[in-house]
Amino acid sequence: MTKKNILEINNLSVSVDKENIIKNLNLRINSGEIHAIMGKNGSGKSTLAKVIAGHPNYKINNGSIYLTEENITNKEADKRAHKGIFLGFQYPVEIPGVSNLDFLRLSYNSIKKANKQKELDPLSFYELVHKKAFAINMKTDFLNRNVNEGFSGGEKKKNEILQMSLLDSKIFLLDEIDSGLDIDALKDISLTINQLKTDNNCLLIITHYQKFLDYIKPDYIHIMDKGEIIYTGNSEIAKKIDSYGYDSIIKEYK
Ligand code: ADP
Ligand code: MG
Repeated sequence: MTKKNILEINNLSVSVDKENIIKNLNLRINSGEIHAIMGKNGSGKSTLAKVIAGHPNYKINNGSIYLTEENITNKEADKRAHKGIFLGFQYPVEIPGVSNLDFLRLSYNSIKKANKQKELDPLSFYELVHKKAFAINMKTDFLNRNVNEGFSGGEKKKNEILQMSLLDSKIFLLDEIDSGLDIDALKDISLTINQLKTDNNCLLIITHYQKFLDYIKPDYIHIMDKGEIIYTGNSEIAKKIDSYGYDSIIKEYK
């Protein structure tokens, strides 16, 4: 299996309100790879994920972002989603008055439509989503409730994983999807994420937890500090962080 370049970030600098948040960052992720980003609070991890997904609040001052060799640096967020970028949130939003099933079908069909593929009618979609929910061990009564309304933290995260499993994206950006989960839910979600990873897509996960990395087994771990990637290594670095904290690692590598 030859690896394809899915995400390539070159010399990226980003600011918000004239404050530089990402500084000269380079990152390359190939198909079949799992990358993790770790770093202290405020180091710019979520900003990076949002900038990759095309969040309009951030100003790109320098550098470029490529998705499967297409320059997407100035593309709108919805175009990027259509092209295969999925961003999962640390705090999934509740959408009162919109049923989960309708929401999932809308996001599924809008991507199909943009790619000139077949959209699904409500009944066919219902069949598909049932299969997917079953595969990730999720109860289907979630589907008839409003999006995330009254869901527990773990249920919201599972709902995101369900959406992720429907969308068949090229890159999944998961920002602290593990936070607030109990050990069992963490394990369930990790197993599902591992199933969704294929030779044709890739994952970028942001996490603080060694336990999550034990399940997901990233190929590369990047340490971010003050908007820069200061170190790239393997699982050894996560163990070191677990034992000694970020400060000693930052001092050693910066
Ligand atoms: P992390 O996810 O690593 O904890 P963030 O990317 O959320 O860090 O934030 C990095 C820095 O950028 C922080 O200092 C944060 O306050 C600042 N920042 C991020 N987004 C905004 C924004 N929309 N407005 C102002 N400051 C922001
Ligand atoms: Mg964050």
